[in-house]
Amino acid sequence: MHKVLVSACLLGQPVRYDGRASGHPDLLQQWQGEGRVVPLCPEVAGGLPTPRPPAEIPGGQGAAVLDGDAQVLTVTGEDVSAQFLTGAQLALELVRRHGIRIAVLKSGSPSCGNRLTYDGTFSGTKVSGEGVTVALLRREGVQVFSELELDAAELALKQL
Ligand code: SF4
Repeated sequence: MHKVLVSACLLGQPVRYDGRASGHPDLLQQWQGEGRVVPLCPEVAGGLPTPRPPAEIPGGQGAAVLDGDAQVLTVTGEDVSAQFLTGAQLALELVRRHGIRIAVLKSGSPSCGNRLTYDGTFSGTKVSGEGVTVALLRREGVQVFSELELDAAELALKQL
């Protein structure tokens, strides 16, 4: 059975920066029941507490963080790049261990966002970009969907 890496906050786990969860869509519950889901919160796995200050990537590009060309900064200016990179590396290890080719990760996050991220100004402004974990998983060839793209994720899973 093909497994799927899923953001822990999409499975009802209260691991978001604000101490809340991000819902628990029916399809993800179904996949959990089938034993397909490998849950991960990269930020918590990387050593950050919950709740934690919001963090953004100036410019919004997780790949730039991987390459050492950008940092992940909290709203008070603390550099949390190391924790984000550790979380991304742990995601990569899980993907390799379980042979995972598909992930469903939370949209908009500086770790998990797959299309849009915040621009680093903490003004609610989103830019085209991807989180740190997503950037690393894509380099591994993993298809990354968000909770807004569950139909596409289900189709991709069937086509494996
Ligand atoms: S979006 Fe990703 S990093 Fe943020 S709480 Fe959810 S699983 Fe953790």
